Amino acid sequence: MHTLKIENLTVKIDKKIILNKFNLVINSGEIHTILGPNGVGKSTLLKVIMGDKNYKIKSGKIIYDNQDITLLETDERAKLGLFLAFQMPISIEGVTNAELLRTAMHNKEDKNFKLLEFIRNVNRECDKLKMDKEMIHRSINVGFSGGERKKNEILQMNILKPSMIFLDEIDSGLDIDSLKIVGEAINNYIKSENPGVLLITHYERLLDTVEPTHVHIMGYGHIIKSGDRNLINEIEEKGYEQITMNSNE
Ligand code: ADP
Ligand code: MG
Repeated sequence: MHTLKIENLTVKIDKKIILNKFNLVINSGEIHTILGPNGVGKSTLLKVIMGDKNYKIKSGKIIYDNQDITLLETDERAKLGLFLAFQMPISIEGVTNAELLRTAMHNKEDKNFKLLEFIRNVNRECDKLKMDKEMIHRSINVGFSGGERKKNEILQMNILKPSMIFLDEIDSGLDIDSLKIVGEAINNYIKSENPGVLLITHYERLLDTVEPTHVHIMGYGHIIKSGDRNLINEIEEKGYEQITMNSNE
């Protein structure tokens, strides 16, 4: 059982405050979704949880399993089991997917790392995601379509087996068939690994497949309203603006 606590987190970039006293707790087995208009700080939140140095933490804490990780390096957070699938995965010329995954697994498993088992695993996960196995040996995301990049994020998740997963608009850029494959892959992962999940999306379709247990609406810098699945219907009916106006903030 793992717990991530974000306490009163205030984050700046340059002089601008992006997260403002943000609070959230995620436990293993819970599937949270944060919905909200563009530019309110959703991607920033996930990047700060992973330790992105571009953002400056002014106050507040990030606690994982009772350990204060606010100042930890990104690779140490990954080693603890945190994983982010980026909204816009970057490409890296000269490093192949296989090399990245192998290095990450080596870091994680140390002496227990078995190369043959690793290769078999990667091949199997590629098949499941209907990814071309040849992509494994290409530079990370170089020449990949938007959808292929998103699948590649899910492949990494399936190989690394993190315990807390953050998925930033994993459904954007996916065609209908790929959306189905990715949605099912996420559900299978949840079933077998029981991670804590934080999902950011603009589309209800993904939330029909991966059913959230907690739904949050985010306004500028923090959560304005939380509830269960019914909140999604409320947003569909009223739109963000009306809900934001009627909240007590
Ligand atoms: P969301 O994911 O909710 O659409 P973001 O977290 O991407 O929002 O961005 C929140 C705000 O912070 C936006 O106004 C955005 O322009 C700004 N911002 C985010 N990252 C950076 C950055 N690296 N440099 C400058 N501004 C940024
Ligand atoms: Mg975003």
